[in-house]
Amino acid sequence: MTANVAALLLQHYVDNFRRLPWRSTPGESPPDPYRVWLSEVMLQQTTVAAVVPRFDRFVARWPNVQALAGARDEDILSEWAGLGYYARARNLILCARQVARLGAFPDTAAELRKLPGVGDYTSAAIAAIAFGQRAAAVDTNVQRVVARLHGLREPSRSQIETAVFDMLPEGRAGDFTQAMMDLGATVCRPRAPACGVCPLSQHCLAFRSGDPQSFPAPKQRRERPHRYGVAYWVERDGQVWLTRRPNKGMLGGMSALPGSEWTVALPGDANAIGTVRHVFTHFSLDLHVVLKLEPTGEGWWHLISELDRAGLPTLYRRAADLALTRQQHAA
Ligand code: SF4
Repeated sequence: MTANVAALLLQHYVDNFRRLPWRSTPGESPPDPYRVWLSEVMLQQTTVAAVVPRFDRFVARWPNVQALAGARDEDILSEWAGLGYYARARNLILCARQVARLGAFPDTAAELRKLPGVGDYTSAAIAAIAFGQRAAAVDTNVQRVVARLHGLREPSRSQIETAVFDMLPEGRAGDFTQAMMDLGATVCRPRAPACGVCPLSQHCLAFRSGDPQSFPAPKQRRERPHRYGVAYWVERDGQVWLTRRPNKGMLGGMSALPGSEWTVALPGDANAIGTVRHVFTHFSLDLHVVLKLEPTGEGWWHLISELDRAGLPTLYRRAADLALTRQQHAA
């Protein structure tokens, strides 16, 4: 069954593969590991549609790992602004510098796994796609496809990895890995899987059950804690006072509006002109935007007309937009 499944999957990939700027055409030489690594880091928690234009801009500016390793932290963080999950950007910088020191990306999953910000999935994906190594890249898409194929309700990670290894065809690890990713993203979707056009339906136990969507069983969601914070809008002569967040912690090293710590209780001076609600992975936040006359803390004046180039992450960009809109209405 497994060889047959791999052959069907590969043919479906050859016929339907998504052309993406970090990929090679099926059957051709593997893509540049730098591009594979960068795309995989960008794709963690961000959609393909959002990543493509940002990836193109990134590689136009820094076409290889040496160029990225030599760039200034602020420039990289600013180019990353809006992609979210900023710990990824900080690890990206550390990883680029480590690879530049090594001279090249390592070519095995075990060695790649030692690089900053490169976990089990990313190391396996780079090893398989860029170096053709037999490695099981298991993300949520692949986990879902395999769980459904084998009719597993609560599969363990090792069960999924074993099943992927069993299917991996000799000499086609890269195409197979990308084929699994594509099938999970476009056909075997979390809701309403398109079994009617799936090349694997004849082999799929979840399909045979009549209720494929119920595999694997949904995980219990944990309640997210809620926090509160204040961001100050300090404006003078067409400029706004910006600051840089501490390197450690949420949005570390990013440009920001000055403000309070984020706490479990509403801060005292929340005489706000409005509130931005933002959901992070582990908590949600109400950021109250407060007008202030004098600059606070270390920072710099930035032209409001050039706010797009300030490298503000989405949370602070939304807070800035809120302040600007409220002021327009008040004028
Ligand atoms: Fe997923 Fe349906 Fe294909 Fe099974 S037949 S792998 S459930 S899309």
